[in-house]
Amino acid sequence: MTQNSCQTDILIAGGGIAGLTLAAILGRAGIDVSVIDNFPPEPLKDTKPSARTIALMQGSVNIIKAAGVWDQCKDFSAALKAMRITDHDIDIEFDAFEIGQEEFGFNVPNSILRATLYEQVQSLPSVTTYIPNALEDYKIEDNHVIAELKNGEIITARLLVGADGRNSSVRKISNIKCREIKYKQHAITCVINHSNSHDNISTEFHYPSGPLALVPLPGNQSSIVWVETPERAEELLALKESTFIETLQTQTNGLLGGIMLETKAQSWPLGSIRAKTLTAPRMALIAEAAHVMSPITAQGLNLSLRDVAALAEVIADCLRLGLDPGTKTILKNYESRRRIDITTRVFGVDGMNRIVSNDIPALQKLRQSGFKTLDRIPPLKKIAMQHGLAPQIDESRLAAGKPL
Ligand SMILES: Cc1cc2nc3c(=O)[nH]c(=O)nc-3n(C[C@H](O)[C@H](O)[C@H](O)COP(=O)(O)OP(=O)(O)OC[C@H]3O[C@@H](n4cnc5c(N)ncnc54)[C@H](O)[C@@H]3O)c2cc1C
Repeated sequence: MTQNSCQTDILIAGGGIAGLTLAAILGRAGIDVSVIDNFPPEPLKDTKPSARTIALMQGSVNIIKAAGVWDQCKDFSAALKAMRITDHDIDIEFDAFEIGQEEFGFNVPNSILRATLYEQVQSLPSVTTYIPNALEDYKIEDNHVIAELKNGEIITARLLVGADGRNSSVRKISNIKCREIKYKQHAITCVINHSNSHDNISTEFHYPSGPLALVPLPGNQSSIVWVETPERAEELLALKESTFIETLQTQTNGLLGGIMLETKAQSWPLGSIRAKTLTAPRMALIAEAAHVMSPITAQGLNLSLRDVAALAEVIADCLRLGLDPGTKTILKNYESRRRIDITTRVFGVDGMNRIVSNDIPALQKLRQSGFKTLDRIPPLKKIAMQHGLAPQIDESRLAAGKPL
């Protein structure tokens, strides 16, 4: 070992929400973890709720609890007690009580979640952070991963986790191919203050260009996810604030009363990515490094946190037995636990996006009669709601609220 080299059990490339959640869960169990990321978040005390929020379903909240940061996030979050879909003349409501729950989950600002997780990992003695820094390259040598960082440091690990987002360097270095679709859609996001109460109901309006969702935040605030064509999104962002608000009022039928912007509106290009495999020798991909989907139905990070939970459990079980967490058997176990959930969600959300975001009369009719059927047949509606929340197979211990 040279002066600039370190050793760790688990090296996580990417300290976004997914990478930091994994680091916090493993770190709380005393497992030796290192995390690399380009940018640290702002300190929590200076962090303002961001224009982007995440609707976390109950299983994901349990995973965030396992990372030890839910108590700090809860005050910035609003319970999601019902979801309403408005599609032309159809108005259908899904209430959490219909499946015996108080709420489906909570809507949390991204900035708060990442800042609390970052503070958490910094407080854990078994976690080392290399932030700001970046993974440049890695190779496998003598049953170890040898990772090279941007500043020339070398880290030796038993397992490398690629949590470095949609343009993952780890995925590229491992030569893992992916299926990628670029949608002709952008999502505009912002937080608004409004005069009417949202009653903890999230509302989604369906338009040919894509859905527009109002998702509750604490008090009379909501976050907006407004899917439009890239050209229309650019036009909307260029509008005077008062004209942007008027347009939003019209598109949401004045549902929330008077509106004021709390954060500036931003826009995000949308697409779908699915990595052909989740593992390579001594490497596992998680979260957006492995799969990206449209924000419609708010599944992205929920799916990612299930990767985090499964990988954390596989690693912890293996280390308890004194085994090497980077072996083929361990990685195979992780891959087989995650494959069906990931494949069905990525294809399902892609299909849903195509059905919802169009003005072809036959598809519109099909979609509306689908919603009507769901509304008329309660057991079917219940199954749809349960499936929307989490997979019915292989629920992880952490998602079920049990210890690691
Ligand atoms: C508009 C919108 C709304 C959404 N709403 C929801 C929702 O309601 N519910 C939901 O579940 N999901 C939602 N999602 C999806 C969710 O936001 C993402 O899945 C999630 O933020 C991605 O987290 P991540 O940690 O996988 O990736 P990222 O946040 O992209 O983190 C990757 C990290 O890796 C770092 N990195 C990159 N390259 C390197 C390198 N070479 N070395 C080291 N570090 C590196 C980056 O700096 C970054 O911090 C939404 C997405 C969008 C676009």
